[in-house]
Order: sequence, then structure tokens, then C-alpha cells
Amino acid sequence: MRSWAMPLCFDLDGTLGHFSSGFVLLREALGSLWGVAPTAEELGRCGGSTDWEIVDELHRMRFGLGLSETGYAEYERVCVARFQTAFGPGGLAPAAYVGILEGLHRLAARHRVWLVSGNAPALLAFKAAALGVDPAIPLLGSLPRHGRVDLIRRALEGCPGPHLYIGDRPHDLAAAQQAGVPFLGIGGAVPGLHPVLDTDAEADHLVRAVEALLAGNGPTAP
Ligand SMILES: [Mg+2]
Repeated sequence: MRSWAMPLCFDLDGTLGHFSSGFVLLREALGSLWGVAPTAEELGRCGGSTDWEIVDELHRMRFGLGLSETGYAEYERVCVARFQTAFGPGGLAPAAYVGILEGLHRLAARHRVWLVSGNAPALLAFKAAALGVDPAIPLLGSLPRHGRVDLIRRALEGCPGPHLYIGDRPHDLAAAQQAGVPFLGIGGAVPGLHPVLDTDAEADHLVRAVEALLAGNGPTAP
């Protein structure tokens, strides 16, 4: 029986796999809409971690005013088209973290699992499908005027804890801390006292680490 009271929220990029040229495609998508693509340096100056935050910041740098919802929808449409072309048949393939993905699906049989990601919703749907995520798992992508912590809070709304956020970057840890949710790290890019699994961890490792956190046993070695 599923434990609906315990939503487990997974980030996507770097947590379930990666799409190597993702930021290039984001810049190209904006270039096709804005005339000239934002530079890698401009992208690097963005402080946000969600598509809404990043595209809004780049829009302010370029045009001196914030992004509109229409502008965000245009970005989403063009960016998904870029990904569909780049990662379509005969093209690039994402790197899938097979054990983590298998563990996610095992956990989804017992818990409420969400993907809570900084990708725009249609891009998140494309990437989740490309990584073979069960379409029954709900997705919550980047919404206008929402940061990552707002997205996590939205996924947890009305669901009493304990909860968990699983991510790969310091911004994921910071959002989990702001939301008051325990954190499990994936990969080597998120230092801290929380438990961490390698990207090539087996499904059993993920399930055990998550169950230990939910049981309140604190950090565990993978
Ligand atoms: Mg990530």
C-alpha cells in the first residue's frame, strides 16, 4: 500500500540522468526568439536554478525588464522543439542513471513520488519520457514567479510529512532546507552532512537510503 502522506520529490537533471548540451539548447532557443543568444557568461551570472528564474534574469539583462508569461511560454515551446530535434531519433541520447531510476520506480510503488524540477513543464515532460520515467509519476516543472523552494512547497501542499527532496546541486540542498525537508544528494556536486549516493548507485542503495531517512535514522552511508 502506498504511503500517500510521504511525498518524495526528485530533481531531474543530474539526479536521474543528464542531457549534456542542455544549456547550449536553452541559449539557442532564446537566440532564435531574441535575435542574439545569451552568452555562456550571461547564463553563468544567473543566480536562479529554475527555467523561469534563469530566463527572467536573462531577459532583464537583455531588455531591462522582466519576462512575461507569454514570453516564457514562447521560450518553453522553442526550447522543447530544440530538445526534440537534438535528442530525437538518430540524435543524441541522454545519460540515464539506471539504478537511481529503477530505485525511483520501486519507491513509487510504495510512496507518493514527484519529479520537482527547474525545467519548464513541457521540457520536464520531454526529459522524463526520454529517461523512461513512468508517466504515472506526477511532474512539477518551473512555473512563473516560482523558485525551487516554491515548487517543493507546492508538491508537498496538504501532505503531512515527513518529506524528502533528492537532488544533485547546492541549490537543491538550499531549497530543501528552506522548505524544511530532509535532503539526499546524488553525485559529488553537493557537499554537506546529508547522505549522498553516486550517480551509478544501484536501486537497492537508493531505496535503503530513502527508507532510512524516512524512518528518521539520519544520514546513512550508501
Ligand atoms: Mg539538478
